[in-house]
Amino acid sequence: MIYADNAATTALSSNALQAMLPFLTDVYANPSSLYSFGQKAKEEMESARERIARCLGCDAREIYFTSGGSEADNQAILSCAHAGERMNKKHIISTAFEHHAVLHTLDQLKKEGFEITLLDVHNNGIVNPEQVGKAIRDDTCLVTVMYANNEIGTIQPIKEIAEICHARNVCFHTDAVQAIGHLPVSVKSEGIDLLSLSAHKFHGPKGIGVLYARRGIPIESLIRGGAQERGKRAGTENLAGIVGMAVALEEACDGISGNMQKVTALRNRLIDGLSQIPYGELNGDPKQRLPGNVNFCFEGIEGEALLLLLDDKGICASSGSACTSGSLDPSHVLLAIGRPHEVAHGSLRLTIDEHTTSEEIETIIQAVKETVETLRGMSPFWRDLMTGKRKHVFKA
Ligand SMILES: *Cc1c(COP(=O)(O)O)cnc(C)c1O
Repeated sequence: MIYADNAATTALSSNALQAMLPFLTDVYANPSSLYSFGQKAKEEMESARERIARCLGCDAREIYFTSGGSEADNQAILSCAHAGERMNKKHIISTAFEHHAVLHTLDQLKKEGFEITLLDVHNNGIVNPEQVGKAIRDDTCLVTVMYANNEIGTIQPIKEIAEICHARNVCFHTDAVQAIGHLPVSVKSEGIDLLSLSAHKFHGPKGIGVLYARRGIPIESLIRGGAQERGKRAGTENLAGIVGMAVALEEACDGISGNMQKVTALRNRLIDGLSQIPYGELNGDPKQRLPGNVNFCFEGIEGEALLLLLDDKGICASSGSACTSGSLDPSHVLLAIGRPHEVAHGSLRLTIDEHTTSEEIETIIQAVKETVETLRGMSPFWRDLMTGKRKHVFKA
């Protein structure tokens, strides 16, 4: 099997697993307990918090554990929105190609009377910071722009956007789930007020993540109950998850420059190989993108059919359209960068990592070439393109 879907989730690091095991066996105490057995659990949790803070370049007291990226996004956005509402500021700026954890939270706020501006992301999938500046109003309470896109991998000018927000006294949140562990991120030097991350996107366990909130940013609790996480997130802590996340993050941060170099070279070879397929195009900027992200649109094919045939060949990949989730809508990300519906349906996302080999890259290129050809051979849509009944979108 070749695993090329690391943007969906990653394999658990064996060091992270080893570090987690004691907390699933011997050290089962509740960190809130007063006896020394519980205090040992608490010490481990606080040590993990400090190590995570060091990786992000912040203070341990600015780290709140959550159940993952989705919860952190919800908490960051709802906290800022409600703080804004108390000052009669009910305008929020974001982009059209955010993760659904952000977009659906904004939908909810819209129902509650907030006004939402979703910025355009041009053809290359990169937000223009000037546009952010132009969209800010006196009643803007929050700007939320993702660090790197989960479908097309494009990296956003976060530091520039944060600067513009601060100059106008607006809170800035970034969903950095795809970036953390893959790109060097430092919340202080980049001026980030709030940041979401998720352990399972950098070889940590699933079901655990972090909301970073700069000191002074008022955070509200989404889950009511006990006083865990300084009253900002009730519920007995997922200690094994927290410890596994800390180990995986340290590992990822230690290896970041070597991995970036290695994975970027593999990615570029994959892009070169797939670029040879006629009537296809890379989605998103070719350079300013995550080291491991490759995303193509091919004319005359259905993404789902391509995935099933690649699965037969032992390749795990993903497509933009959300057919598996019961809707046949093409990806909102591909539409946001201006892809027409018919080609947005024919997309393929391959997300590799430092464990991918160059042999695997060659196998993927060969398999995608063959599969695209097979599918086109069976497609009436493709026949129309070849006979000139329909117009091509891409060049040969
Ligand atoms: C995976 C992902 C999320 C959701 O994280 P979970 O931990 O699975 O809830 C949010 N945003 C982005 C960009 C993601 O890639």
